[in-house]
Amino acid sequence: MKINLLSADVYNKIAAGEVVDRPYSVVKELVENAVDAGASEITVEVEGGGKKLVRVTDNGSGIEKEDLKRAYSAHATSKLSCAEDLFTVQTLGFRGEAIASIAAVSRMKILSKTAGSDAYALDCTGGVLGEVRPEAGANGTVVSVEDLFFNTPARLKFLKSDGQEEADVTNMMARFLLSRPDIAFTYLTNGKVKYRSFGDGLKSALAVVYGGGILENCYELNADKHGIKISGFIGNQNFSKPNRSYQSLFVNGRYVVNQTVAAAVTNAYGAYLMKRQYPFYVLFLEIPPEIVDVNVHPTKADVRFADNQIIYGCVYSVVSAVLDGNSRALEYLADVPKAESVPQTAPVAPVPEIRSTFEKPVVPPAPVKMTYEQAKKELAFDISSVGGKGTEPRFFEPSVSADLEVRAPLSATEEKREEKKDFFAENQRILREAEEKEKNARATQERIDPNNLVYKGELFRTYLIYEIGDAAYFIDQHAAHERLIYNRLRAKWESREVVSQPMLIPYVLNVNAQEFAFLEKNFAILREMGFEIDEFGDTSVRVSSVPVDLQSIDLKSFFAEVLSSMESLRAIKLADLIKDRLATSACKAAVKGGDSLTEEEGRALIVETEGDMGLRCPHGRPVAVKMKKSEIEKLFKRIV
Ligand code: ADP
Ligand code: MG
Repeated sequence: MKINLLSADVYNKIAAGEVVDRPYSVVKELVENAVDAGASEITVEVEGGGKKLVRVTDNGSGIEKEDLKRAYSAHATSKLSCAEDLFTVQTLGFRGEAIASIAAVSRMKILSKTAGSDAYALDCTGGVLGEVRPEAGANGTVVSVEDLFFNTPARLKFLKSDGQEEADVTNMMARFLLSRPDIAFTYLTNGKVKYRSFGDGLKSALAVVYGGGILENCYELNADKHGIKISGFIGNQNFSKPNRSYQSLFVNGRYVVNQTVAAAVTNAYGAYLMKRQYPFYVLFLEIPPEIVDVNVHPTKADVRFADNQIIYGCVYSVVSAVLDGNSRALEYLADVPKAESVPQTAPVAPVPEIRSTFEKPVVPPAPVKMTYEQAKKELAFDISSVGGKGTEPRFFEPSVSADLEVRAPLSATEEKREEKKDFFAENQRILREAEEKEKNARATQERIDPNNLVYKGELFRTYLIYEIGDAAYFIDQHAAHERLIYNRLRAKWESREVVSQPMLIPYVLNVNAQEFAFLEKNFAILREMGFEIDEFGDTSVRVSSVPVDLQSIDLKSFFAEVLSSMESLRAIKLADLIKDRLATSACKAAVKGGDSLTEEEGRALIVETEGDMGLRCPHGRPVAVKMKKSEIEKLFKRIV
C-alpha cells in the first residue's frame, strides 16, 4: 500500500472538521484504520475511559517502514489520490488526517509489520516525531495513544468522567461488532474483557452485544425493495426499550444516525409501542451510492439521502409488513420466527430461503429499476394497504435542489414523540404550579379542627362527607391518602431519614453501557433515597434494598422511567425525577377511589391531614371541596 499526499485542492473538497474531540473518536478512527487495512482480528484496549490509553492491535496489511513517517503527516492517505476517488471511496477513512490530529495531542506510537519484512516502530509526542526503530512485532499494526490531550488542558477539561467516556467507547465498539460481524473483535477496558466476538456472523455478534436471548425477541429482515436492501434485526411487537440507545443503523456499512429511517421504523411500530417506548433495531441499508451522500458530516455519524421519501417508504413498508404479519412479510423475513412469537395474523409457512446478511447470494437478484414516480406509487399503495394505525406518513414531493435539507416526513406519532421528550419538564412544571396553587389556596382556606368534623357518610365509595358548623366538606379519599404518603416520603427524604428495606430477592437490571454509565453517575442520589444499588457484572445493576415507603414499588417500571429520561435528563436532575416518581408511587400505593373506607379509617385520614382542607394531591387535584350551607340553599332557591 502506497501513501499519497492529497493536494490542497482535494483536501478542500472534503468538509473539514475536527477529527478527534473525545476518546471514542480516537477509538473510532483507529479501528476504522484497522478495518481498512483488511484486519480479521482487532483488539481494542482502553484505560481510564480512553484518556490514559487507547491501544488498537490489528492483523491487517501493516505499514511499510518508509511509510511510517508519512502516516503521521496531515493529509497523508493511501486511500485516495485524486478528487474523482472521493465519489467512489470504499474505505471508512480517506481524509488522511486522523493519525496526524491524534498524534498532535497525545503520546502516540505506531508499531507495524508488513508480511515478509521486519517490524518497526515510530513515536510521536505532541506532534514531535521520533526516529523509526526496529522493534519486535507480529504482522499487522499496533497503534497506542497515551495521555490524550496532555498538551491541550482546555480540551482535556471538556472530557466527561472516565466512566462516561468509557460508556461512549463501549457503545461505539458495540456498533463495530454489529457492523463487521465478519471481524473478530476483542474489547477490553482496564484489563477486563467487555466484548469478544468471533467473526462468525451477525447473530453471534448480536448475542455478544445484547446477550443470548436477543434473537428470540427479534425478526430478521432480508428485504430488497426497489434496489434498496434492508437487512438486520428488529424487535418483535412485545419487545421495546425505554430509550433510543438500542437503535443502530448502518448505511452502506457505516454506522449512521438518520431521522428519516428512525421515523419510518418508529411509525411502522405505531400502536405496538406504548408511551415512552422505543423500538429495538439493528438495521443495515444498502443504498445505491447515487442516492446517498456520505460526506455531509465527516466525523459525525450523519448521512443525507438524496431522496428521503423513497427511503422512508421502503423502510416503513418493510417493517410494518413484518410487524403486522401481512402477506408481504414472507418476502422480507430472513427467517420465520418461532411459533410462539408469531403474531396472530402472521403466516407461519412456508419457510423462505434463509440468507445470512453478509453472505453474498449465489445469483445476485437483479435490482428492480423503477422510476421515482413508479416507486412512489407502489410505496403509497403498500403503505395505504397497511393502514389503520393512524400513522400514515405524509409524502412530500422530492426537493428540486439536492442541496436542500429534506427532513423526514414527520407523522402524527413522531410529532407526539417529540412532545414526549418534554414529558418530565412538563411534569416538573405541573408539580411546581400545583405547589404554587396550593400555597395560594392555603392562604385563603383556614385550617379546621378535625375533632369538630361530623361524619355524614361516603359517596360513590370515593368521597367522604363531613359537616362542620355551617359547611360541608367532600373529601376525596384517594387524593388525601396520596398527599399524605407523598408528604411523608418527601419529609423523610429532605431530612435524610430514609429507611431501606432489604428485598428478599434482589432485583437485577440488565442495561447497556450508556444506561449503565447514567445509573452509575446517579448511584449516590439513589442511595440517598434509600435504594441500595450496586454494579453487578459488567452491564447490570442490582437493587437489594428499596426505601421502606416504596416497598411496593414496581422496580421494572421505575427503572424504565428513569432510563427513559436518560436522554433528556441532562437538564433535569434525577432528584427531581425521583421526587416526581415518589408522587406517582404514592398515587399507586394510595387508597384508590372505589375502595370503601370505614368511618374510623376515614377519620384517621382526616386526623393525619391535621385538618388542612387546602391540601392538594401531588398532581394538583384538591383533596377537599367545601360547600357552604348557603351555597346549598342557593341551589334549592331558598335564598338568592
Ligand atoms: P486515512 O485513514 O483517512 O487514510 P489516517 O490518518 O487515519 O488517514 O491514516 C493515514 C494512513 O496511515 C492510512 O491511509 C494508512 O495508509 C495508514 N494506516 C493507518 N493505520 C493503519 C493500520 N492500522 N494498518 C495499516 N495502515 C494504516
Ligand atoms: Mg483513518
